[in-house]
Amino acid sequence: MGKIILTGDRPTGPLHIGHYIGSLRNRVKLQNNGDYDKMYVMIADSQALTDNFDNPKKIQDNLFEVAIDYLSVGIDPSKVCIFIQSGVDELTTLTYYYMNLVTVSRLQRNPTIKTEIKQRGFETSVPSGFLNYPVSQAADITAFHANVIPVGNDQMPLLEQTNEIVDTFNRIYGDTLTRCEGYLNEDEISQRLPGLDGNAKMSKSLGNCIYLKDDSETVKKKVMSMYTDPDHLKVEDPGKVEGNMVFLYLDVFATDEQIKKYSEFNSLSEMKSKYQQGGLGDVAIKNVLYNVIEEILTPIREKRKYYEENIDLVKDILKKGTEEAKKDASKTLNEVKKAIGIDYFE
Ligand code: ATP
Ligand code: MG
Repeated sequence: MGKIILTGDRPTGPLHIGHYIGSLRNRVKLQNNGDYDKMYVMIADSQALTDNFDNPKKIQDNLFEVAIDYLSVGIDPSKVCIFIQSGVDELTTLTYYYMNLVTVSRLQRNPTIKTEIKQRGFETSVPSGFLNYPVSQAADITAFHANVIPVGNDQMPLLEQTNEIVDTFNRIYGDTLTRCEGYLNEDEISQRLPGLDGNAKMSKSLGNCIYLKDDSETVKKKVMSMYTDPDHLKVEDPGKVEGNMVFLYLDVFATDEQIKKYSEFNSLSEMKSKYQQGGLGDVAIKNVLYNVIEEILTPIREKRKYYEENIDLVKDILKKGTEEAKKDASKTLNEVKKAIGIDYFE
């Protein structure tokens, strides 16, 4: 079995720097090193409907945003199959058969779902489609026999759920489906970048993000309003680095070359010591972060402009990708039906 890579994003908003650092950057790296048999990137619009069913316009509006974000960060449609989940009905059918293999209480125990239910105020009544989305995610992954999944660490319990479904299916119906593994960053902060507000996760649904499409002025405003050390009132005061979001982001995004370029310091650790001693202001450290983020976003913005002006090209890429994904998924659906024994006319 070769290496088959699959990832995806929910079109619930434009993608943010948490996606970039947690997942998109790795996808481009994997794509460019060529060490894989096939790579898929899915826009999970059906999954996004499970908690946005009453606002389909949000999903429609963001579908192209996400597709353009992909192309702008360098995901290359000649190497990667970019497709729309709702265009591959086979995934829904697979979900239906997999639902038999999972109990409701197992889904309720999933830590990711638990957190997300709370965030969405679904505690008293959760839509069954939402509770079930880990099962549909198992369908998305197994439909392509994907075994490498580049994700943020909030997704790990969901991959575990997928492997449980795979094991149960194979045990009952015979060896058919492929197990998968998450592909995570080495450092923990970029596995789950916290939000600008200090929340444990930058997330579209929480609105605490710097988006890849934000213009310079917006990025500046967002960085300048970031949470630092509430006791660091005057420049001369000693400041705290731990729990200071600006330093946490600098840890993730900045190189020492950039620190040299945008500050009077030779390295991030030198800059941190000065802050701890006192004599380094918040505006100064925020300015460094702003410049570092701008270095990442400027080339992405330029590409974005091209695709925004050539939206038919984007549509065409999605249409071709979806057709290709449908073909591949229907092969797996046939295998699944055969394994269960419901391929009556074959
Ligand atoms: P939503 O709030 O709608 O769930 P989201 O911001 O969580 O949106 P998703 O589309 O659910 O984004 O996630 C897509 C991918 O990006 C997943 O692999 C997820 O783990 C990763 N990801 C999302 N947010 C972060 C983050 N803050 N840091 C690192 N990776 C992230
Ligand atoms: Mg999410």
